[in-house]
Amino acid sequence: MYSPSRWSARGGPSPVDANDLYQEVLLDHFRHPRNHGTLADGEVLADEENPNCGDRIRLAVRLAPDGTVADIRFDGRGCAISTASASIMTAHARGRPAGELSDLADRFSAMMRAEIPFEEGGVEDLAALAGVRSFPLRVKCATMAWHALKKALARAAEKPFSGRS
Ligand code: ZN
Repeated sequence: MYSPSRWSARGGPSPVDANDLYQEVLLDHFRHPRNHGTLADGEVLADEENPNCGDRIRLAVRLAPDGTVADIRFDGRGCAISTASASIMTAHARGRPAGELSDLADRFSAMMRAEIPFEEGGVEDLAALAGVRSFPLRVKCATMAWHALKKALARAAEKPFSGRS
């Protein structure tokens, strides 16, 4: 049962209560990752790895002519946090403008490093990753997919849309 007064009585949010809630969300993304797989053609690829944990991701992004993300998939191996973060990120990215996503990736990394306050900012399930900030060694797990997104979008910007004949 949710009890804010119990949280403050302990001098802050209880990690147990928060984890019960967020672990459900994270485990759902881990067990049923959204947009897992590869793209057939017309995509830009970006690889990232997190040697601390053994996480690896290959992100494939295809932009539409208007600069929005037409399709996005991720592949690789990772822990629950890195997989859930990639799932949450790709679910949000589809249909969004590249510039907006690139800014969001910067903001998310800064939030995870606790340089700015954490806010969900309209990204579904993003709040489930807020608790990772309490575990500095796992922050890279959460940010890896977003680094890959930034890299892929930068590459896409250098590669003008060739269109289809
Ligand atoms: Zn990891």
